[in-house]
Amino acid sequence: MAGRNFLFVPGPTNSPDRILRAMHVPQEDHRSSAFPELTLPIFRDLKKVFKTETGTPFVFPGTGTGGWESALVNTLSPGDKVLSFRYGQFSHLWIDMMTRLGLDVTVVDVEWGEGAPPEQIQDLLTKDTAHAYKAVCIVHNETATGVTSDIGAVRKAIDAAKHPALLFVDSVSGLASIDFRMDEWKVDIAVTGSQKGFMLPAGAGIVCVGPRALEAGKTARLPRCYWSYEDMIKANATGYFPYTPSIPMLYGLREALTMLLEEGMENVYARHHRLAEGCRRAVAAWGLSLCSKAPKWHSDTVSAIMVPPGFNGADVIDVAYRRYNFALGAGLNKVAGKLFRIGHLGDLNEITLLAGIAGAEMAMRDVGIKVELGKGVAAAQQYWLETQKPLPPKHVAPPAEAAVAKKPAGVA
Ligand SMILES: *Cc1c(COP(=O)(O)O)cnc(C)c1O
Repeated sequence: MAGRNFLFVPGPTNSPDRILRAMHVPQEDHRSSAFPELTLPIFRDLKKVFKTETGTPFVFPGTGTGGWESALVNTLSPGDKVLSFRYGQFSHLWIDMMTRLGLDVTVVDVEWGEGAPPEQIQDLLTKDTAHAYKAVCIVHNETATGVTSDIGAVRKAIDAAKHPALLFVDSVSGLASIDFRMDEWKVDIAVTGSQKGFMLPAGAGIVCVGPRALEAGKTARLPRCYWSYEDMIKANATGYFPYTPSIPMLYGLREALTMLLEEGMENVYARHHRLAEGCRRAVAAWGLSLCSKAPKWHSDTVSAIMVPPGFNGADVIDVAYRRYNFALGAGLNKVAGKLFRIGHLGDLNEITLLAGIAGAEMAMRDVGIKVELGKGVAAAQQYWLETQKPLPPKHVAPPAEAAVAKKPAGVA
């Protein structure tokens, strides 16, 4: 099909050409003396994105799900108590993993469309005077519902309860797109993947591990081998891996980090916020509502849009794909059919997102949802015009002396 296949699923996200080109490399020896020149600066720059001085980042050949597993098996023992909150498909799946690994999970079900409740965390931990809970596991950005939880508030709740539990955070669809502060929030392990904010293909589980979590590893008894942080630390210290890493992935990650740091993390967050707000204005103009129940939960990386009763969100997605060659995100589990999602993270600007909003309008009309064409597009445009940044300076060409000097003699 002609034209670009735009991805408005919240991962994998669109890979910029710069990253694709950087990944187009021949394979090389991952044990060469030059290899650490690639890897060591990647580890250093990852810390800037996680906002940590004390954390140790690891890049596993794997995915975010593998990152979850690494956090659990490196720090906990069979039967350990952990506290977690279920408010969407991803928090559900992480909890399922905890159970299957033999942990004793206290699951607090929260309405889908809300996030982690700090008051309840404080309350439950205050009551746990024996300090039985070894870890609190929170999904930062619940991709299934478009809800962002306040990790700073979660940290305050744990501290207010004077509880020593470790704090593990899934920021798979948050990191490198929305504000994340590993050190300030005292996050013990942060988990992400390569195919969301980092704009890469899936294939790397990226985690950052704080000193308390590494310390817990010394007595943790869940079996681990492939995911062992200890093995990684030993090899990574000199820039190598315990096994064969994906070479193109590391080159892609190098380029992604360069792009993020060139833009500046605060600018990256501001861009995502402004684009997301434009998308939310479009949803309001359509007369539709978000799955996220209140502005404080609204995610700046994904909007989950409820379809009117009598319609199926899956039909909108199907038409979008088959007729217009673009991808919207599906409703998962409890919200299957009830919504569709527009992912707005990674490599995008106003014009990119307008394509998604305009395409969603057409796909909704195709399945009979009565939205007025152009309404959402106009609302987003209006918001972006009102909030636009100063016009960047015009590019001034450098003096042409070099070109003049090269002219053959006698040419005017
Ligand atoms: C995508 C996602 C995952 C799963 O990551 P994979 O890389 O697909 O394993 C986990 N948590 C959240 C919040 C996600 O968005």
